[in-house]
Amino acid sequence: MPESYPMNGGNGTYSYTQNSYYQKTGINVAKGMVSEAIGEKLDINNFSSGSNSFRIADLGCSVGPNTFTTMQNIVDAVQHKYQSQGLASKFAEFQVFFNDQDSNDFNTLFTSMPKERPYYAVGVPGSFYGRLFPESFVHFVNSSFALHWLSRVPEELLDKNSPAWNKGRIHYTNASDAVVDAYAAQFTKDMEGFLDARAKELVSGGMMVIITLGCPNGMPYAHLAAGIMFDCLESCLNDMAKGGLLSENQVDSFNLPVYAPSPKEITELVERNGCFSIERLELTNWRTEADPRGDLRACVMHVRAGFESIIRKHFGNDIIDDFFERLLKEVKESFHLIQSSYMEGTQLSVILKRK
Ligand code: SAH
Repeated sequence: MPESYPMNGGNGTYSYTQNSYYQKTGINVAKGMVSEAIGEKLDINNFSSGSNSFRIADLGCSVGPNTFTTMQNIVDAVQHKYQSQGLASKFAEFQVFFNDQDSNDFNTLFTSMPKERPYYAVGVPGSFYGRLFPESFVHFVNSSFALHWLSRVPEELLDKNSPAWNKGRIHYTNASDAVVDAYAAQFTKDMEGFLDARAKELVSGGMMVIITLGCPNGMPYAHLAAGIMFDCLESCLNDMAKGGLLSENQVDSFNLPVYAPSPKEITELVERNGCFSIERLELTNWRTEADPRGDLRACVMHVRAGFESIIRKHFGNDIIDDFFERLLKEVKESFHLIQSSYMEGTQLSVILKRK
């Protein structure tokens, strides 16, 4: 059973709904690439006419609003393609399957859905590391900013007798090689399950877009702004342990199940799976439109919207506000590091086609 740590639900101050515009800029950066790939590569002529609805799945959709923009963009691009080929009537209808873990706030998702939308909506609870749909069922799969969540923390990290015991650290940033390897191995295992499931569910000629956190080949994660942010989280927790607000043991046993793969790792996994061709693979800067270096409070709010539930679950409710206040201070002190971090390619966008 995979662990799950939902984004903050509802639409209050700390919600994902209100604090997800960095992800939105990332999706916008990839939009042109996705529309182009649909225009050029989606094999609509080969789809069987067993059903007249075009089925799209958004895996790890969270509570919105980004998922609605993404789905609208995909429907627009597919419609445009049909129209330009004189096939407007083949798939008259669209169905969108919104997937996330069952702990996701699906109520907020459904109540905030655009009233005017060019598709029928379906909710699909469950982990995308396993099967979610019948065989040869979906024509298009999207997953934005979700696949960096591992299904679990690698076991060795918690084993005091393992070289990968991650004492005093909460991530593989600046950690030993054994820790980095344990994370990479967990990512490999998860991604194999993801690709196997999608290979069964996607129709031949169907496409899949993956947008996730990425890292250039061979670059230590500490060089990236996200790595510096994880270091800040770690310092705050260690400070709180020193001050007696948390136990050292609690910090030692906490690890963020987050992994940012390199283009090389993704390419090898897709090739080994064998069912997909790689149509596009790019490392881009997801912050070309909005640069969080300018607004550290907003940056910490984004981190809170995404990580509050995992921190709350491990450390309890009482420390939460104090912790995020400390984090803002810590991030301000690390501003010079964030400013000089590697910026050019930290978002990995991949477009695959089912052979
Ligand atoms: N795609 C949206 C939301 C990203 S937040 C956007 O771009 O704005 C990441 C989401 O992935 C969270 O809602 C989280 O619950 C979901 N997620 C993480 N692991 C998952 C898994 N194994 N199966 C399904 N959803 C998962």
